[in-house]
Amino acid sequence: MTRLPSLFLSHGAPTLPIDPSLPSAEFASLSARLPRPKAILMLSAHWMTAQPVASTADKPDTIHDFYGFPRQLYEIRYPAPGAPDVARRAADLLGAAGIASSSEPHGLDHGAWVPMLLMFPDADVPVAQLSIQPRMDPAHHFRVGRALRALRDDGVMVIGSGQITHNLREADFSARPEDADPRVTEFTDWFEARLAARDLDALFDYRRVAPHAVSMHPTDEHLLPVFAALGAAGDAYRLQIQPLGTYQRVLAMTNYVFTDD
Ligand code: ZN
Repeated sequence: MTRLPSLFLSHGAPTLPIDPSLPSAEFASLSARLPRPKAILMLSAHWMTAQPVASTADKPDTIHDFYGFPRQLYEIRYPAPGAPDVARRAADLLGAAGIASSSEPHGLDHGAWVPMLLMFPDADVPVAQLSIQPRMDPAHHFRVGRALRALRDDGVMVIGSGQITHNLREADFSARPEDADPRVTEFTDWFEARLAARDLDALFDYRRVAPHAVSMHPTDEHLLPVFAALGAAGDAYRLQIQPLGTYQRVLAMTNYVFTDD
């Protein structure tokens, strides 16, 4: 069976599926050029727990975990089947790596269902979620991803869903694309150069050494999923970068694909 890539996706604002000014079509073009997964294990920035929890839901609910958005968005349902077998295997792999975890049924948060809706609109790819740990560091999330690497040989695509820069405090909702803050590219250029070089020491220490790290991520739950995707990648991955632009001055959307060839 084909070894599936691991991905990091910037899921943007919840309005991504309904706002034509946002780059939704690029998610469909991304999935179209990747091997079709048998199932997906999704680590989203919007399911946060103290230790990893794997969702064993057979039919996960669509969770509308946002407030004050257009009604149309609350009416969207994403009825993909769950993947409780993948969740149980993920928990077993974590246990074998010495990482304590638990399992329970849980719905899909918008960090999971928004990109799934765009990439697999027929909702025919089973999906399980694994929570992230906002109080744990990048190295922990790398270890989680590393433990899950074997899933990729079973036709499972491991996806981290967050955002490459995420500072809602400084977001300017009237900003035009050309108003992007120069700190955004200083941060993303640094991050992508280190990713391309697989410089794990620098990446794990990004908060201290990357330019504008703390202002681009006042809290880093939206960046932590990239470390899981990185851990799930092979030791000699090839990095593909899909830049999707910067919105609201400081919210950059870039997707990364880690492949073994
Ligand atoms: Zn988010």
